[in-house]
Amino acid sequence: MAVPERRDTRPPRPQRKFFHRRKFCRFCTDSALIIDYKSPDVLRDFVTERGKIMPRRITGNCAKHQRELTTAIKRSRSIALMPFAVTEG
Ligand SMILES: [Zn+2]
Repeated sequence: MAVPERRDTRPPRPQRKFFHRRKFCRFCTDSALIIDYKSPDVLRDFVTERGKIMPRRITGNCAKHQRELTTAIKRSRSIALMPFAVTEG
């Protein structure tokens, strides 16, 4: 009687979801970049295409600037410069 052979079915290499990039706070690095609720062009870089605010672990912002950014985006939303949610179709 042949015993079914146990095989390792694991993929050869785990795939990384995100390409590792050196993280730094863009607002600390670039003094010309200011967090302002009146400039949605700057804020738009930190939201997803659906309009959600990106977490700090993705953007690499420092706590201070992430907090300011979040406030600015929310303020900007309330005066309709930024979307609350982007619906497709
Ligand atoms: Zn910073």
